[in-house]
Amino acid sequence: MKILFHACCGVCSLYPIKKMKEEGKDFALYYSNPNIHPYKEWKERKKTFAAACEDEHVRYFIDQSYPLEDFLRTQLTYENRCQWCYQCRLENTAKKALAEGYDAFSTTLFISIYQDRELIRATGKAIAEKYGLTFYDRDFREGFTYAQELAKEREYYRQKYCGCIFSERDRYMKKRKQK
Ligand code: SF4
Repeated sequence: MKILFHACCGVCSLYPIKKMKEEGKDFALYYSNPNIHPYKEWKERKKTFAAACEDEHVRYFIDQSYPLEDFLRTQLTYENRCQWCYQCRLENTAKKALAEGYDAFSTTLFISIYQDRELIRATGKAIAEKYGLTFYDRDFREGFTYAQELAKEREYYRQKYCGCIFSERDRYMKKRKQK
């Protein structure tokens, strides 16, 4: 099985990379996060992602598009903003997997203790069915601390919020209220 991982950032990629290497899996990673806001943050995460892949000597791809208008137009049509986000990122990854000859896909979001794991799983499975691929369903949460510590050691950029414009507001609004 050849697995293409959607990668939300370099830091979250570290533990899935470690496990896939240990298990001798055939895999690559794909940075496709069109709703990371602002553009400067998207670029910073992209740079860290590439650095992590280079340091680990693993194959990777980058989606260079930044369709801000599409994101603004469509994300608010979903009741649950994260549902749109998972759908968009995983569907991009499934399409890339097909184009590059991978037969399965997954996401490094599975390392996060903050994400809606069940929603990611359900979204991934539905997309896999649509494209005739396998959704590689894996729990990486035990590696959260490992990834953070290694990122600190390597002085990688570590983001302060999940990614979208809404999560940025929530993070800093909360901080302001605490003052
Ligand atoms: S909070 Fe995170 S997972 Fe949810 S929509 Fe924003 S970036 Fe995506």
